[in-house]
This record gives sequence, C-alpha cells and structure tokens, in this order.
Amino acid sequence: MNGDPDLLIGGEWIHASDGGLRQIVNPADGSVVASVDEATTEDARRAVAAARATFDEGAWAATPVAERAALLLRIADLLERDKEQIAHLETLDTGKTLVESRIDIDDVVSVFRYYGGLVAVQADRVVDVGDPTVISRVVREPIGVCVLIAPWNYPLLQMSWKIAPALGAGCTMVAKPSEVTPLSTIAFVRLAEEAGVPSGVLNLVQGSGAVLGSALTDNSDVDFISFTGGLATGRIISEVAAEHVTKVAVELGGKNPHIVFADADWESSVDQVLTGVFLHSGQVCSAGTRLIIEESIADDFVAELVRRAELIRVGNGMDAASETGPLVSEQHRAKVEAYVELGISEGAKLVTGGVRPSDPALAAGSFFLPTIFDNCDRSMRIVQEETFGPILTVERFVTEAEAIRLGNDTEYGLAGGVRTTDPARGERMVRALRHGTIWLNDFGYYTAAAEWGGFKKSGNGRELGPTGLTEYQEIKHIWHNTAPKPAEWFKGV
Ligand code: NAP
Repeated sequence: MNGDPDLLIGGEWIHASDGGLRQIVNPADGSVVASVDEATTEDARRAVAAARATFDEGAWAATPVAERAALLLRIADLLERDKEQIAHLETLDTGKTLVESRIDIDDVVSVFRYYGGLVAVQADRVVDVGDPTVISRVVREPIGVCVLIAPWNYPLLQMSWKIAPALGAGCTMVAKPSEVTPLSTIAFVRLAEEAGVPSGVLNLVQGSGAVLGSALTDNSDVDFISFTGGLATGRIISEVAAEHVTKVAVELGGKNPHIVFADADWESSVDQVLTGVFLHSGQVCSAGTRLIIEESIADDFVAELVRRAELIRVGNGMDAASETGPLVSEQHRAKVEAYVELGISEGAKLVTGGVRPSDPALAAGSFFLPTIFDNCDRSMRIVQEETFGPILTVERFVTEAEAIRLGNDTEYGLAGGVRTTDPARGERMVRALRHGTIWLNDFGYYTAAAEWGGFKKSGNGRELGPTGLTEYQEIKHIWHNTAPKPAEWFKGV
C-alpha cells in the first residue's frame, strides 16, 4: 500500500509481477486514498501453488490444535490493539460510518475468539461397531487449499468468517478481497503474520475478480472455494469449480422481507424497519428491503417511515454527525439510480428519496438519499431483484397466509423479519418462512456462534457456528482392527 508491497505469496511480500497498481477511492469525496498492487493472473496462480506446496508439506495441518487455537486468539488480541487503524481504513474504503466500522472490527475479533475456542474442543467421534476388537473413529482433517473471495460491503468482516475457520481447521489459503475495498484485508494479513501465521499458510492477492477469477477457481490445486458475493458471480464460480469437482460454498444475495402485523410494537417496528433497510445505505446482503405490512396500519406506518427517513443524516462516514455514508462507488450509484427509474416505470409510487442529496458538500461523493416506494407488488422487478442500495418497497397484506406467501415469494432466501405480539403467530411465521435467518421482533442481529447462510439462490453453504468450521474440514473414518483375523469369504481352495 502506497509503495509497500501488498501481495503475500509463499511468505514473501511482493509487488505485482507486471508492476500494476490500482487506485483506491474514498466514495465520500472521490479522493484517492491509496494505491495498491494489482495482481496478475500469474501472481494468482503462484499464490495457489504456494498454498498447495505449504499444505502438502504437512506441518501446518499437523500443528497441534491447541497451537492453532492460540494463534486465533493472538490474532484477536492484535485486532483489538489495531482496531482504530483498521476501522479507519474500512471507512475510507467503503464509506460506511466510523461507528459501523468499529462494530465490524469488534465482530471480526469475536469471530476469531469464537473459532479459537471451538477448534480447541472439537472432538473426534468413536463409533461402536459391535466388535470389541475394532476401534472405529470419525476424525476431521483440514480440507486443504482454500480460495477465499469476499465482497466490498463488509470487506474484513466477510473475509474473517472464512480465514478464522480455515486457519483453525489447519487449511492453507489464498484470500482475495474485492478490488474496490482491499485496504483492511491487507492490514489484517500483516497483522496475522505478526501473530505468527506460518509462511505460506495465508496468501493474499488483490485485483479484479473477473481477471483473477479463473486462476483462482479454475484450478485443480484448489480443494475448497468459499465465495461471498452476487448471484451472477456465484453461478460462474460454481460452474468452473464443477469441472474440477472442487467443493464450493457460495454465500449470495438476498431480497429480504420484513413482515409487520398490525399488533406489532409500533415504536420498535418503525425504528427497525428503517434501520433494517437504510443501515450502510442498504448495502447489506440481509437488508430488509421488502416491507410487507398489514393493510390496516400501512398508511400510518409508511407516513411515519417517510418522516423519519427524511431525517436520516447522510454524510461522510468520518463525520461523527453522519448516520449513513455514501454508496461504495459511482458505478454502484448508477446501478441503484437505474433501479429507481425502473421502479417508477413499473408503477411503484415514489414517496421519498429517489435522488442524490442536494447538499453541495456531498456533491463529490456517491451519496444517495433513503428511498421508499409504496404501492408495490410482487410482479415488479424492484420487488424481486436485489438493488443493494437504500431502497425500500412496500407491499400490503390482509391475511397471515398472504404474508407467508409474499415473504417466500423470492428466488432468494437469506433472511427475513416478523413483527407481532402474538406468540403463536410468531412461531407459525418463523417456521413457515424459507430463509436462513429469521428475526422475530428484531432485525439484523447475528452472533459468531450461530450459522449464517441462505436457502434457495442465496447460497449453499453456512458460515459461522460449528458448521462454519466443518465447511473447512474433510471427514475421515478410521477403522482399526486390533486383532486382525482372516475374513474367510474366499476359502483359498
Ligand atoms: P461480486 O461482484 O459478486 O463480487 C464478489 C467478489 O467476487 C469480489 O471479490 C469480486 O472481485 C469477485 N469476483 C468477481 N468476478 C469473479 C470471478 N469471475 N471469479 C472469481 N471472483 C470474482 O459481489 P459484490 O458486488 O462485491 O458484493 C455484493 C454482493 O454480495 C451482493 O449480492 C450481496 O448480497 C452479496 N453478499 C452476500 C453476503 C452473504 O452473507 N450471503 C454477505 C455480503 C454480501 P472484484 O470486486 O474485484 O470484482
């Protein structure tokens, strides 16, 4: 970064082999905040080869699990030490508020602490096969070389959900952050090296996914690809990996319903519907972008949402007064603006936002105002497609069955919320909705100890929790006969 080499391959920090650099832009004001090495496909292939050679050499996989656990905890300590610096980088790079970046880094710390605790106690299983001379054990071993690809909305957080379990399991890896937001990951990898990650275990390349993708994924040296990003990229990676029968876990987008019944607590519902969709300017995979609301309270509820949405302070994430920052780039804002045009042309009623802020102080950044479309219906693309911006659509329902039908009426299945004070209805709803996470009278929370992932086209893997570790492990059954004797199937005559 800014002259220092940014690619870590086989334990050596190097510049891109062709000298290529990428300028990293602060979306709050368009200024260039850093220039980083842009890996070539050859660099990416070398990184995978280094991870392969390190894994095959065997020392890391054979490292006692207690040592690997201790390493994860040391990383957590160093992250706490460097929290302000890394949070600062995250805000410069993504535009999110510093408050959010600090929360993200706290969450990264908790992921390393969680897996540091879990790997230390993960037990093998002994199976009783009904023969006292046979010891049957089911053991877990590292899956091998992992390629870890993360998106730009939660750069280090999403990457930590991969690196922590991969290290804990004893894998070697190549990490590739988004080309738009590599800064926090570069800082993290330097920190992990300081904590004692052995040479060649954690390799880092950054650059365009479209350019580096095939070197990283169309590669028979790779045993597992963990990808978080959009559906289109997830499809490409899954197809390419299938050629090599490489295991793939894809964590993809969402079009997440937030269902509000008339008996729901008013104050927390208004507040959380607002936060659920407008936090980080809607650039959240689990953002509650579809408000599905009971007809009898809909008009009043939407009016209050509009009032409060117009009070949200949009601004530079470094400014303590800002409640939400810009979109990540000019290109991304153009995509969001195109969705607003689409919503209008589809007949949805724009009730607030839909434009850039008028404040001249924000003119150089890629800001966009919180936007609400009323009178939406399931046939609209704006209701079905992930806009990944600060856009809320409103649909109304009358019966519980209708609420369930609407809540499941999406090709995605990442997350959803239900708000009601009727416990029986709450329980019926959380079971009927087909999404990987359901919040009942809450929205957006998660913990490192519970699995995260999607149903349907939101993905096919799970991160966090015990499953987030087993994704990085192979299961081996060891059958040990302590008193071997002939099977006598073939008589030998
Ligand atoms: P994206 O365009 O799919 O990119 C994700 C990552 O894949 C980036 O590092 C990207 O690199 C890389 N990439 C692009 N093309 C590739 C290829 N052909 N082969 C290998 N890698 C490739 O997604 P995004 O726009 O960064 O992220 C937003 C999406 O992520 C949204 O759909 C959001 O819902 C989803 N998301 C899901 C979760 C979850 O937990 N399910 C969490 C966060 C975000 P470049 O950036 O360099 O192109």
